[in-house]
Amino acid sequence: MDSRRRSTSKASTAPPPHMKMGVGLHQHHNDKELKASDALPLPLYLTNAVFFTLFFSVVYFLLTRWREKIRNSTPLHVLNLSEIVAIFAFVASFIYLLGFFGIDFVQSILRPSADLWANEDEIDDAQSTDESILKEDSRKVPCGAGFDCPPPQIVNKEIVSPPSLVPTVLSEEDEEIIKSVVKGSTPSYTLESKLGDCKRAAAIRREALQRITRKSLTGLPLEGFDYESILGQCCEMPVGYVQIPVGIAGPLLLDGMEYSVPMATTEGCLVASTNRGCKAIHLSGGAASVLLKDGMTRAPVVRFASAQRAAQLKFFLEDPNNFENVSMIFNKSSRFAKLQTIKCTVAGKNLYMRFTCSTGDAMGMNMISKGVQNVLDYLQNDFSDMDVIGISGNFCSDKKAAAVNWIEGRGKSVVCECVIKGEVVKKVLKTNVAALVELNMLKNLTGSAMAGALGGFNAHASNIVAAVYIATGQDPAQNVESSHCITMMEAVNDGQDLHVSVTMPSIEVGTVGGGTQLASQSACLNLLGVKGANRESAGSNARQLATIVAGSVLAGELSLMSALAAGQLVRSHMKYNRSSKDVSKVSS
Ligand code: ADP
Repeated sequence: MDSRRRSTSKASTAPPPHMKMGVGLHQHHNDKELKASDALPLPLYLTNAVFFTLFFSVVYFLLTRWREKIRNSTPLHVLNLSEIVAIFAFVASFIYLLGFFGIDFVQSILRPSADLWANEDEIDDAQSTDESILKEDSRKVPCGAGFDCPPPQIVNKEIVSPPSLVPTVLSEEDEEIIKSVVKGSTPSYTLESKLGDCKRAAAIRREALQRITRKSLTGLPLEGFDYESILGQCCEMPVGYVQIPVGIAGPLLLDGMEYSVPMATTEGCLVASTNRGCKAIHLSGGAASVLLKDGMTRAPVVRFASAQRAAQLKFFLEDPNNFENVSMIFNKSSRFAKLQTIKCTVAGKNLYMRFTCSTGDAMGMNMISKGVQNVLDYLQNDFSDMDVIGISGNFCSDKKAAAVNWIEGRGKSVVCECVIKGEVVKKVLKTNVAALVELNMLKNLTGSAMAGALGGFNAHASNIVAAVYIATGQDPAQNVESSHCITMMEAVNDGQDLHVSVTMPSIEVGTVGGGTQLASQSACLNLLGVKGANRESAGSNARQLATIVAGSVLAGELSLMSALAAGQLVRSHMKYNRSSKDVSKVSS
């Protein structure tokens, strides 16, 4: 076994530390691909020159000799030493030149097998886990962990993987734990508690996962994230994190304040478009918002033996005389929880009680659930025949499109409006007031009515809501109802200017709890000036954030509607290198 084979077969059974993480090895042929010509002792151009010269010289020599033999009537097959050497040189150079002209073809065949890490010469055991992970990594993927990685080097004709730039090195002890996770004797979910080191747990889980699935996680970074910060709060069994770019739209001039709005998205045009809307709003003197309601909801479902008993509890809860008592019990859940209303609906002998409460700067799902549980426990005293089926009975309604949210509101109900000057409509939005009003009527109102939309009387509110939610650590699943929005447009000031508004009844946001405390999301909240709890007036940071969401939606609606009205949509996508296939995605 030659040294090259020895070194690689070792790698397939006991990979060096940087390979164990499944990152170092994969960081190859980013810059330089191996070619068949790399095997030549001289540079390609010199080798070519030698063989070209040799070929034409011997051809000339043999032809001359052939002519002389014909003239002297010497038999052609009688050869002297120089002629024998010339014939060998001719054959050799001919073969080389044949190879030379077909070299691209030869390389195209050789390339896959010359792939450093998937080469059969390199890996002895075709079934090994490393092999299958590495084979997959023959893709040209960016380095994991967000580092630039040097290409592999060739040292003494051996391919040497560069040292990994990822500092995490798994020890022998880690290797044992990985094996035990792969075998199933250590449950993956126990790693954090067993090791007491979240980063190490994630690294071990990641490596075990790669071996179990024989799939590479290259490209999913591990480094650069605080795994302690998500423990028991944001995500279980982490193996890395997904990177989403954050763009900035703005300044958004809203209620006299300027905001730079962070938007986490991979949708081209979205930030640029929202930015254009912000510009139109700014040049028109800014937008104004009004918060109509602020209350999170939770609706448990309980069952009785009869509809009559269900109705009795409904009347009890809706009786104003009982409210004080019930709210006192509810509010014990948190100093920020304040019960506002209880609205009930009956389905047969089942009762749905929709509790609404303010939750300070928290989005409030945890808080309200605790309050509701307190009340259910209390009600068991007088309604012992009440069977609690579920603390959430979908009349809340969380993360589902539902008319109850559209009509009653959930979280923050906000209206945001602005008068866009006719001049700005023309110069910035490249359209005119009448075209916008007509399009809004036919698309956002009539079109959505024809489609039977539920809260979807807008062009693309969910685009902006999702991007701002992800950037600021909100629950992106609540985008379903948080994007409920009706966009209205009307010509004002004798048809010169445009009055535009968005009405959004269920914006569910918080500035404490959940993902808001993570470093990057917290930085985005900080940029908006609404990070964390508001010490002077609990809840005002979350309310301000809701108005910013609505203001950003206003900007997004203005810009997309204008692009549609001006027929600019396709052109603007082409400018940002979007394929025409994707255009429909943005226009929603
Ligand atoms: P959610 O209810 O949105 O799921 P969490 O329960 O995770 O949020 O976070 C709310 C926590 O933050 C509660 O324990 C609450 O006591 C605390 N908290 C601190 N300051 C505030 C504030 N200004 N508003 C709301 N909650 C706050």
